[in-house]
Amino acid sequence: MSDFEGLRALVTGGASGIGRATAELLAARGARVAVLDLDPSSVEEPLLGYRADVTDDTSVREAVAAAVAGLGGHDVLDVLVNNAGIGAQGTVEDNDDEQWHRVLDVNVVGMARVTRAALPHLRQSAHAAIVNTCSIAATAGLPQRALYSASKGAVLSLTLAMAADHVREGIRVNCVNPGTVDTPWVGRLLDAAADPAAERAALEARQPTGRLVSSAEVAGAIAYLASPLSGATTGMALAVDGGMQGL
Ligand code: NAD
Repeated sequence: MSDFEGLRALVTGGASGIGRATAELLAARGARVAVLDLDPSSVEEPLLGYRADVTDDTSVREAVAAAVAGLGGHDVLDVLVNNAGIGAQGTVEDNDDEQWHRVLDVNVVGMARVTRAALPHLRQSAHAAIVNTCSIAATAGLPQRALYSASKGAVLSLTLAMAADHVREGIRVNCVNPGTVDTPWVGRLLDAAADPAAERAALEARQPTGRLVSSAEVAGAIAYLASPLSGATTGMALAVDGGMQGL
């Protein structure tokens, strides 16, 4: 596995789940890591926590500037993990305009806002990499996930377009497509079910591996795409789904 010694990384949505596991893995591999989150109160050293709402451009620009300064790299950022995201359930009839705007604002426009603020700093790096957290929902045609799938489809397209736009300035852009990951988010969904234990068992039974993907497994894929080990890879989506799509 890669060595992030001397590299500086920024992870959005890094206070929980996949983002948290990613921030911890990058730090364990030697990176200086800043986390941007709506609620960074649980973020502990060596991670640096910054409050930001990815739907608010001013908040994003201020937090990215503060994080880059806090990382102490003379304006250089090497890795951006665009991971903050929210879910939505239902068919196209179930979500009103307000929900559509909200989810697209967080999952898609939020990613563009953070990237916009981070690009001047990424351009200073000799190993710049952006990794976006997408989802198998981008291409799987999942039932009851119309809005969420549309948002992740946009993330996939955005990843490919960003990869093309920035390849010649040495910035790679890839995404991971997780399946069902055992994070606090999925925990909240299960807790809302009539019988959470039965619901979890049913969910696990639908996985080819018989279990949910762990946050650490998604973090491992993100770390690979963020590291110089994947230096010739850009514009790609890496599935981390326990075989959901391939089998
Ligand atoms: P999570 O809810 O555990 O963590 C998400 C984090 O994002 C939280 O810390 C939250 O505070 C932060 N966040 C939410 N809205 C924000 C905003 N407006 N500004 C700043 N931060 C904000 O979720 P998770 O399961 O770890 O999901 C992380 C990412 O992984 C999301 O993009 C999600 O779509 C994607 N994903 C998750 C799964 C899964 O099964 N859990 C599967 C595929 C993709």
